[in-house]
This record gives sequence, structure tokens and C-alpha cells, in this order.
Amino acid sequence: MDRYVGNKTISQWVAAFPVLKKITAKEEVLWLNTCYEEKAPPQPGFTDFTVQEIIDADKRLQRFAPYIESVFPKTQKAHGQIESPLYLIPKMQTYLEKTCFLSIPGRLVLKADNELPISGSIKARGGIYEVLKIAEQLALDHGMLRETDNYADLANESFHQFFSQFSISVGSTGNLGLSIGIIGAKLGFRTVVHMSKDARQWKKDLLRQRGAEVREYDADYSVAVKEGRRQASLDSRCHFIDDEHSRDLFAGYATAGLRLKKQFDQMGLVVDDSHPLFVYLPCGVGGGPGGVTFGLKQAFGSHVHVFFAEPTHSPCFLLGLLTGLHDAVSVQDFQLDNQTAADGLAVPRASAFAGRASGHLISGCLTIDDERLFQLLKAFADEENIQIEPSAAAGGIGPVMLLQTTEGRRYLKEHHLINQMSGATHLIWATGGSMVPRKVWETYYKRAADNQ
Ligand SMILES: *Cc1c(COP(=O)(O)O)cnc(C)c1O
Repeated sequence: MDRYVGNKTISQWVAAFPVLKKITAKEEVLWLNTCYEEKAPPQPGFTDFTVQEIIDADKRLQRFAPYIESVFPKTQKAHGQIESPLYLIPKMQTYLEKTCFLSIPGRLVLKADNELPISGSIKARGGIYEVLKIAEQLALDHGMLRETDNYADLANESFHQFFSQFSISVGSTGNLGLSIGIIGAKLGFRTVVHMSKDARQWKKDLLRQRGAEVREYDADYSVAVKEGRRQASLDSRCHFIDDEHSRDLFAGYATAGLRLKKQFDQMGLVVDDSHPLFVYLPCGVGGGPGGVTFGLKQAFGSHVHVFFAEPTHSPCFLLGLLTGLHDAVSVQDFQLDNQTAADGLAVPRASAFAGRASGHLISGCLTIDDERLFQLLKAFADEENIQIEPSAAAGGIGPVMLLQTTEGRRYLKEHHLINQMSGATHLIWATGGSMVPRKVWETYYKRAADNQ
């Protein structure tokens, strides 16, 4: 039986978009977004996301910086700003050139969100931001705080007591739960994390140790989120952080754009007509990379070209954009199983918000095989001495897909970039890894070594 997905049967979808044949066969693909640079039709609640929301988010994070600095000593050097370094990675560039048989003109850089303080992944941007926003709102509403106060006071017992009357909950494959659990519990909230079966044991252990409650599900991410959302709806003092719908998460992620521009300026990296910037972002539900993309477009305009990277078994964001159905299509609809070792990307269905708010800003999506993730993870360690988790390696294949596939070359041609490539910067966004216990990380490394 040929089932309907949206207004077409599966075979009609495949006939209309031949690339789906490769996608359903779990082959690696680069798909160019047909809606790129199209004006998105106005969709209230989605396409009205504004720069002002990013500016507000940035100011809020600045107000909280004294608090962050006082309770997370690792952020002292950066005065309470939660930010990651940017590295040139020439050895990785040579590695890709040698192992994939191509030349990568321009330079290769790594955005090391694997080193983000507090929770060691890109979720420290959105997740922590949303919790801080909730805390601020509650404290303002109850007359405990004014915006002009020194927020370091939030570390006091009186605030801890106050926040303990409220709870925050979230559904997660691991890293979002880690971010929200750590900051939520630190502020004093009762924090409940609903974990999908992909979540790693060490993440659950760490959360419990920090005082968060972990509820485990023998089901995938969509189920954990749905159940978390349902339980939270029964409690008026519980705020559910909804990764499938949240604007606040998106705003937190988007602050990365202007900050990255500052880092580029400091390192003397130029982005302009003859120096295009290509960014490769690992994608799960799309909120993280979508928010970052929104910020990048504010910072670099049409000179930045953003590609999302997903596992071949869970390309939910690609399917959402290609079909235009966003969260109304799952990878299972296309007979894919959502089984991947990239736990941060093991998501069967895209966010309802991200694709609508940022879909037109994304140049394309690529998919990557799990074995390749592990080889890249190993190469980052061998070549650059950088520890990342499997999900975070997904962007590593980006420059190869762009330069080596027919689709990639078509993109460069259509955007008049062929002659600019010697001035290009390729940025791989490493989205997580520094909190992975060494023993666990070594099993990842070993898997790569065994399969070489
Ligand atoms: C969550 C996550 C992503 C993707 O973020 P989404 O908002 O789910 O798209 C990428 N890498 C890692 C390591 C993550 O934890």
C-alpha cells in the first residue's frame, strides 16, 4: 500500500524529488534547498522572529553574566560570558584532502562549542538562555529583582528558596537535558528531564548528581518530549522547555552570530564578496542550527552559506524542508529508522518552529553515514587533539560534499562562487564533546580504529 504523506503518496514524492531514492537508501547526499533566499510566506508565530529578539537575548545574557561568573568559576576568564573559541585546523584540512582525494582551497576553521562552559555543547547557548529568562521573569514578577540589580545576588539562598517553588522540565536525547538540568538545579528549580532511549548513561548520572530528576523512556525523542509536555501541562508551576516549538531557545542560539563576527574580526578573518564563508552545522530538530543560522545571516548577510548535516538514518530537517511539511513528516514516514550513534541528532521529526523561521536561510542539507562520523571523530583527535562527540563530527564532511558532489559544484556555480574559493573560509561547527567522560570517548575512538 502506498501511504500518503501530506498530499502525496511516497512514490509520488520520490517521482517529484528523485534525491529521495538515495535518501531512503541511506546514501550520503547533498541536497540544495529549493526555498533558499525565497521570501517565506508570512506565518504568524514563526516568520515574525526579529533581530530585536536576538538583541534582547544578548542583553539578558549580559545581565546574568555576574551570576554565571560567580557560580561557574570556569567562566571567570570570560567574565561570565558563555562562549567558545575558534580555531584554525590546517591539519584536519590536510587530512580531508588526503583521505577524500580533493583539494580544499581557502582555510578550514572549527567553532569549538564542544568546549562551551557549563554543559559542553551547543545546548549551553539556547538551553541555559531559556532557563535564565524564566528565572528573571519570575523574580521580576514577584518583586524580588530589578533589571538594574547585580544579578550575582541570584546565587543567594533567598533566591534558591524562591525558585524551589517552581519546576522546569524538558524532553531530551541528552545534551539539552544536561544544560537545563545543570543551570535549573543551580538556580534552585525543581528540574525534571525526560530522556529518550538514545540518552547516554553518563548524562543521566551526571544530572542526578547535580540534583535534577531524570525520567527514562524506552522510546525515541518525540515520545519523551510528548510525555514531558503532557506531565508539565498538569502543573501550573511547571515550565516546559519545548525543543519542538521554543522561540526562546532559538533566540539563545542566535546570539552566536554577532559574537562569531567579533571573533572573525579579532582573528583577521575577512568575509566579503571575494571571501565567502561556508558553515556546516550538525542538525537534530533544527532549533540549534536554525537559531545560529539566523544569527549568522544578521552578521554576514549573503556572504555566509549555511549547510545542515544530519545522519543518513535521521534526516528529519531535510525531509521537512524538501516536502515543505516541516514537523508534519517523520523519517519513519520514509521508512528510515532513526537509528544512529549520533545521539544528539537522533531525532525523527523536525522542530515546528525552526524550519519555518529559518528554512529560507539555509543553502542545503547533507547527510552523513555513522561510520564516517566515527572516522572524523578520530581524525579530530589524531590531527588536532580535539575531543568531540559523534554528533559533533557531522559537519566535518561539509567541505568535501560541497566541493566534490555535482550538487555542491552546482551551488558554487549558481552563486558565482567558483572564482572566490581561494578566499573561502569553511567553518565546521563542533557542537559537543568536552563533557564526555574519557572512558566513554575512548569507546568511540576504538570503534573508529577497529573499522579503519
Ligand atoms: C542538540 C545537538 C545538535 C543539534 O541541535 P538541534 O537543535 O537538535 O538541531 C547538534 N549537536 C549536538 C552535539 C547536539 O547535542
